[in-house]
Amino acid sequence: MSWTAHSEAFLLHYHHSRNMEELNEISTVAFNCNDCGADLTYSPGTQNIDCQYCGAKNKIFDTGESIEEQDFHSHLSDTSQKEQLPVKFVDCSKCGATSSIDQHITASSCPYCSTPFVTDAAYETNGILPKSLIPFQLDKKQAQQEFKKWIGRSWFAPNDLKKASLNFEKFKGVYIPYWTYDANYDCQYTGLRGDHYYVTETVRIGDKTTTRQVQKTSWSSASGSVSGFHNDILVVASTSLPARYVHKLEPWDLSKLTPFNKSYLSGFTVERYKIELDQGFEAAKEIGKPTIKSKIRGDIGGDVQTINTMNTDYTNITFKHLLLPLYVCAYQFKGEVFQFLVNAQTGEVQGEKPKSWIKITLAILIGIALIAGGIWAFMHFNN
Ligand SMILES: [Zn+2]
Ligand SMILES: [Zn+2]
Repeated sequence: MSWTAHSEAFLLHYHHSRNMEELNEISTVAFNCNDCGADLTYSPGTQNIDCQYCGAKNKIFDTGESIEEQDFHSHLSDTSQKEQLPVKFVDCSKCGATSSIDQHITASSCPYCSTPFVTDAAYETNGILPKSLIPFQLDKKQAQQEFKKWIGRSWFAPNDLKKASLNFEKFKGVYIPYWTYDANYDCQYTGLRGDHYYVTETVRIGDKTTTRQVQKTSWSSASGSVSGFHNDILVVASTSLPARYVHKLEPWDLSKLTPFNKSYLSGFTVERYKIELDQGFEAAKEIGKPTIKSKIRGDIGGDVQTINTMNTDYTNITFKHLLLPLYVCAYQFKGEVFQFLVNAQTGEVQGEKPKSWIKITLAILIGIALIAGGIWAFMHFNN
């Protein structure tokens, strides 16, 4: 089923009174309320898209599709498997992130650096369609509460930042593109096996002679092969997120993946993937490497192992393209951009806290004053 088919199925289900011309007009991210015509937005943690104005609730139509693995090589060789993505995108002039834009919103800004968008520049593009997603579970308020708890632990967060956490405009719900890969691996290796043994040595310390056990290692060459299966290696397909925080946002509960339905995007931003399918697989190989290495170490045996060469074949490679929900808060402080991320499934918060020098200086001065006061009191009362 294509994106259009999805949305039409949905629309036919809920707007059966409307005719086809009207269906085409409203086949963008925001759907309109049957009762009052206002935009409908997905309500996190539910299966509804709700009207923010009249309160009408609409259940999201379940397509009943299963989430299937797709063949990696056939997608690489056949570009016709790329389809037009169902939302329009705009490129950020500052950081280069490509985000979806809602045609009903005239003023919008980049979720990653808060630079205003030129909404007229929105364009349509082809790509691999996501077949599944995890819908937002936390709403903006819950995400902000998690953020406040987190920033509250940071003694040195500047006051501006605390204010920013109260600014709803700075929090954006973004569906981040990911790949997951499955593959069989078969790895030929060469290396060394080290076995420990102990020798008794006699040592002289001053006048005394004593013995001690000293560990030695005997090395022998080793080679062989190991094989196994990588299941659902998760690779982020965005280049806009700070790399060191992406993994810290894990784990995601991928058992909660839902078949893709455009309704879940209503009211949220979608980021266009920047890491292509084949680049993503290269990243997946790196993520899977430690697993293969530990298998090799087990295969070599002994007490310690050295791996010299690894030659890995991957077969039956399949992938899934999915969207995962994050709240992104981009914050500019003294000309620098800081980002905070809230996992909208689990509430996990990650980000960089700029330190306020005024607060640090004050803290140090107070510290010195307390010590000085303590010394003064000690001397005073001891005299
Ligand atoms: Zn309404
Ligand atoms: Zn940007």
